[in-house]
Amino acid sequence: QSTLKSPTTDAYPDWKAGDLVPYAALCTTFSKIEMTSKRLEIISLCSLFLRQVMRLTPADLLPTVLLMTGKLAADYAGIELGIGESLIMKAIGDTTGRSLKIIKEDQQKIGDLGLVAAKSRSNQPTMFKPKPLTVRGVHEGLMKIAITEGQGAQGRKVDGIKKLLSSADVGLAKGQTVDISENKGGPSESKFIIRALEGKMRLGLADKSLQVALAHAMVAHSVAEDGKKVPSEADLKKGEEVFKAVYNELPAYEVIVPALLKGGIWKLRDECKLQAGVPLKPMLAKPTKSITEVLDRFEGKDFTCEYKYDGERAQIHFVAHDSVDGYASTIAPKEGKSDRGVSNIFSRNSEDLSKKYPDILAKLPSWVKQGTKSFVLDCETVAWDVEKKHVLPFQQLMTRKKKDVKVEDVKVKVCVFAFDLLYLNGEALVNRPFRERRDLMYAVFDEVEGEFSFAKFGNSRDIDEIQILLEDSVKASCEGLMVKMLDGVESHYEPSRRSQNWLKVKKDYLAGAGDSLDLVVLGAYHGKGKRTSVYGAFLLACYNPSTEIYETVCNIGTGFSEALLAELHDTLSPLVIDRPKPFYSHSAVPKDQPDVWFEPRFVWEVKTADLTLSPRYTAAASELGGDAAGHKGVSLRFPRLVRVRDDKKAEGATTSRQVAEMYRAQSEQGKEKKVGVDDE
Ligand code: ATP
Repeated sequence: QSTLKSPTTDAYPDWKAGDLVPYAALCTTFSKIEMTSKRLEIISLCSLFLRQVMRLTPADLLPTVLLMTGKLAADYAGIELGIGESLIMKAIGDTTGRSLKIIKEDQQKIGDLGLVAAKSRSNQPTMFKPKPLTVRGVHEGLMKIAITEGQGAQGRKVDGIKKLLSSADVGLAKGQTVDISENKGGPSESKFIIRALEGKMRLGLADKSLQVALAHAMVAHSVAEDGKKVPSEADLKKGEEVFKAVYNELPAYEVIVPALLKGGIWKLRDECKLQAGVPLKPMLAKPTKSITEVLDRFEGKDFTCEYKYDGERAQIHFVAHDSVDGYASTIAPKEGKSDRGVSNIFSRNSEDLSKKYPDILAKLPSWVKQGTKSFVLDCETVAWDVEKKHVLPFQQLMTRKKKDVKVEDVKVKVCVFAFDLLYLNGEALVNRPFRERRDLMYAVFDEVEGEFSFAKFGNSRDIDEIQILLEDSVKASCEGLMVKMLDGVESHYEPSRRSQNWLKVKKDYLAGAGDSLDLVVLGAYHGKGKRTSVYGAFLLACYNPSTEIYETVCNIGTGFSEALLAELHDTLSPLVIDRPKPFYSHSAVPKDQPDVWFEPRFVWEVKTADLTLSPRYTAAASELGGDAAGHKGVSLRFPRLVRVRDDKKAEGATTSRQVAEMYRAQSEQGKEKKVGVDDE
């Protein structure tokens, strides 16, 4: 059904064509989005607003879209908010003249800092009406706060927050109070500014929904320009597809929005293509439990089994100086300059790793055949023992410095293992068969022992041969195999998808332990006995990206050495917060409460014996028929810490859906084992 029935009925009264978009107008839309959980309605509200921006103030489309995403720039720009609670509370106190003590008390009562700010502001007598905030102004203000660093940064950040808050409207009519019972608080500007600062908008607006909304708004705009009233369903669908295809290859609104403004939706595919300098989200793999499962899945198809190296995902981008396509027309820093060209390395989360791996960038030109104009290469960087000439464990790689590494100081050498080529000489290869991409990769690069190699592989379909390959990979310090389709559409590179066409077979699965989980540390319990000065156990959670909520999944106290516990106490203590964040879903039973709660910062890889359902945890509860406070979420039995994952952010943790899938897969597999419900 059409999402754009009456594109002009909802205009904000003070917003005229050519005006900067009022922030209040955006907050009104945020508030409406927040009030519903229906996806189509959310898309419709969002699209309606974007359509108005197109009609009245197209120049503000980019900051509007960015504020809707809750991010200030594309991931690779490295600009992050996630400001800590203490700074925000100080700014609220300073702006409203309320003491920190009262703010903290409110925070204890209300739980949501955004609502605390709204309430504090609504209690404040206003002498004069501040100049209204604009979307552009808020985006710039937040950006300034995010990029402030160096001496006195904290103070300047607080000043920046105060500046925004003091102009913010509370969004209440005279005499109206903030409705905290509903945990909504209306279209208060203060509330949404605080949420943006916290890095969690919690509107229920998923990235995918925003993409659909923007596509719909652009289709409606083009239809209106052609003199028609309402776009057809077919046009809306086509617009969605165009947008999705473009965004997959080029996940950067900074590039897409200007192109949309220039040529509209129907020219977008020609204007915006994968380009060097803008990292695409990597393709991910599905876990499998046995080689026979792989054979069942890929029956009758040609596939390849590559070694699964245990290091860090790295997407290497390069453009030669004499290339016509130049480096991306974006804000990507031009890091690795050499005689041959410019290059960058991006992580699995699209962060720029160029300052971590200057040694790779320095050597890169020697692996690339002369005449190569540009490429994007998918690889794994692995720690390398130079003397013994073999791969070292992941832990070695983690000891490397993360920033401002100087080539001459590098102690842990790395070897790059390349497994896919996504772009070559100005052309995207993602929609070509893997066999072809791999042949091209072999044609363009030269191996150099200990510096650059192609991922080892075997193309067998024989179960015994695959078993031998798996054992060989483990002997070579790899984690197991990555099995990939070779031909046809199924072998195309699917950015940002955990695809059935890439299967991982890890050696550990075969022992029946299943895949590990990457979980966020939300809280901790004080140690007992010898461990009283440290935390002795921790509360962990998975992440539900569609609700932006962390859902608890286990307590863990195994796998920690005394030294590690001491270290964790030092790193976690500064993250202690007074009470759980409103975006933590957890048991309210007093005996289940951890002694301290943390900001969601750390991700740990955890192994488990099996998964069970429990009234104590909330992970995937609603998906598995639980909750309305009876919980029965998935919980991990006998969890054990494998490693701290510095390369993952909290939002990159294992998702609730994955946890549910793991639980279901286990139930399927262990039917005769009968996976029971743990009622404790
Ligand atoms: P997730 O669990 O979210 O999938 P992860 O980072 O824990 O991510 P795995 O699922 O264990 O990774 O495996 C996929 C990862 O394996 C890739 O992201 C990549 O970093 C690494 N890898 C190593 N060798 C290969 C290879 N030959 N092909 C593809 N990926 C490989």
